[in-house]
Amino acid sequence: MRPDAGNGPLPARTSIKVQTVRYVEVAVGLPVQTTFHYSVPKQLQEQAAVGKRVRIPFRNRQLIGYIVGVVGRPEGFSVKPILEVLDQDPILGPDLVELTRWIGKKYLAGWGETIEAALPGPIRKGRLMMKSRSPEPAVEVSPSSPLPLNAEQKQALDSILAAVNRREHRVFLLHGVTGSGKTEVYLQAIQEILSQGKTSIVLVPEISLTPQTIERFQARFGAKTVAVLHSAMLESQRLQEWHRIRLGEAHVVVGARSAVFAPVQSLGLVVIDEEHEPSYKQEDAPRYHAREVAITRAKAFQAPVILGSATPAIETYYQATQRRIELLPLRSRIEEVPLPQVEIVDMRQEFGRGSRGKIFSRQLEETLAQTLTSRQQAILFLNRRGFSPFIHCRGCGQILRCKSCQVTLTYHMDTRSMVCHTCHSEQPAPEICPKCRSEYIRFQGIGTQRVESELARLFPQASIARMDTDSMKARGSHAKLLSAFRRHEIDVLVGTQMVAKGLDFPRVTLVGVISADTALNLPDFRSAERTFNLLTQVAGRAGRGALPGKVILQTYTPHHYGIVAAGRHDYLAFYQQEIEARRQCGLPPFTHLVQLTVRSLGENKALEYAKKIAQTLRRCLLSEVQILGPSPAPVHRVRRNYLWQLLLKSPEEVHLKEPLAAALREVSASRGCRLAIDVDPL
Ligand SMILES: [Zn+2]
Ligand SMILES: [Zn+2]
Repeated sequence: MRPDAGNGPLPARTSIKVQTVRYVEVAVGLPVQTTFHYSVPKQLQEQAAVGKRVRIPFRNRQLIGYIVGVVGRPEGFSVKPILEVLDQDPILGPDLVELTRWIGKKYLAGWGETIEAALPGPIRKGRLMMKSRSPEPAVEVSPSSPLPLNAEQKQALDSILAAVNRREHRVFLLHGVTGSGKTEVYLQAIQEILSQGKTSIVLVPEISLTPQTIERFQARFGAKTVAVLHSAMLESQRLQEWHRIRLGEAHVVVGARSAVFAPVQSLGLVVIDEEHEPSYKQEDAPRYHAREVAITRAKAFQAPVILGSATPAIETYYQATQRRIELLPLRSRIEEVPLPQVEIVDMRQEFGRGSRGKIFSRQLEETLAQTLTSRQQAILFLNRRGFSPFIHCRGCGQILRCKSCQVTLTYHMDTRSMVCHTCHSEQPAPEICPKCRSEYIRFQGIGTQRVESELARLFPQASIARMDTDSMKARGSHAKLLSAFRRHEIDVLVGTQMVAKGLDFPRVTLVGVISADTALNLPDFRSAERTFNLLTQVAGRAGRGALPGKVILQTYTPHHYGIVAAGRHDYLAFYQQEIEARRQCGLPPFTHLVQLTVRSLGENKALEYAKKIAQTLRRCLLSEVQILGPSPAPVHRVRRNYLWQLLLKSPEEVHLKEPLAAALREVSASRGCRLAIDVDPL
């Protein structure tokens, strides 16, 4: 099953010539590592081919499965016949059959499960393929032409095109500060791929798949050439785009994580913008990382990959220092716009001035006032939604928690309710304490709603809007709010990380970070990296136009290296400290991790099963694989389920994956317990 890399005939055509297929290997969409063999009745032998869906008998029911191989007569066991072949042409090309097999092995997920992650919903559910050509998208955009490149952009583009022309699979890291013109390099590289009649896939984080981003691609290549895939689209729209790609009508695919599986015929280039974004990792099985999948897919086509970021993942930059990835630096902002000036405010000292509980430091309040007087705009960032994250009873000292998850409840002022941010349950906020009946209920800590209301109190004349998942529930509200901000109908935008990504507004001269420490306090070895990335990105929103920008970071840990480096826009300083810390603690990229999570309604049951797994693993795996736990998951209860975790750590990947898969086959399943495997967890 060699991937078809050239411009040759469609795999669908070749399958017709294949002689009769008597036995097939079928993958089913269940969390099982094995495939199943079936016989093909005579009347279906001409239709059966790799990459097609089939209806099969499975235990006492019927399932839809995927033919992944043709096999010989099984010896020593009898097989059942397939019932129906659903497709005329394969829905999976040979390269996707091979890619999904690789993903199943790498991430210890089922092959069929992985195939289903690669297909649009209606196809997965067994709906038959449309025959008609899809209508053309009704979008009108004014065309744009290539912009002149500066010396660094030109050098980067030349290196990429050299690989394209040599048909060489190389991975490039385009490392450029915000506003350094990475997108223009992508666009001109894609132009060349188009002229060679090949297809490009561009992955962007879901959150930055804004109309603004999509229009840039449509303006350059025309709406017909560009297909868009993301989760906010209707299923029917997504299916239509999938068909346009499959039929070779669209040659540039722009989409979120799962667009890495777009059914392109001849792949010429993959671009992964903001490659460090955690949203490229899938949270449910198969728990793949789109960056790794993209690199493997491109390799099969001998196509280059461009990873773009201002703050590359530590693992990615490490690969660049090892010369496994080629570094292409963009050091200057286009048109020489200077990076904004950053002021770090030590909130511990603000306390000394008797302003305990205040949200804004004196510096931030004064600068906000100046910004508003001079008719400019500001963005205030806080990565915590709701009004306050703690509901505290002063009568009995309790903090109210969710009954099924045990996490603290957040008070939401707009709905006067308390919400669990883990299971999303919501109930009216109490007037008296449910435990001691005291009336002294206090809301503590700061969320975006509280910042918004405090702002309205301090600056009653200003127009203020809030952007977080609570205020952006309606379809299209995101785009509406952004265009109002662009037209300067809003002076101050308050928001969570939704405001951190990709927004480019020339009149924004102030960015205030209410608390730079929110992410630092999480129990996660990546918390410093997350904090640095987020602060750098938020800071990059200020001073994008002719007016100079200013950033104010409020923090209780002003000397933390992540915060200091973000204040200086110094990625390399951050990287050097962080990679040293990882080396000393034996963390990725110096080790490989696998996380196992057992989940059950019974607390003892979950723990017992986790212990049983740990015992088997300690017996079966090499001693250099460290097995930590079982320990309670950071969020120990979710929707009444108890979660226990094991963490496996190994310097060598080979000692981890296959031996683990083999060992897990020895552990018999436990009724009422579910096991989730996460390879390279984030
Ligand atoms: Zn109480
Ligand atoms: Zn809950």
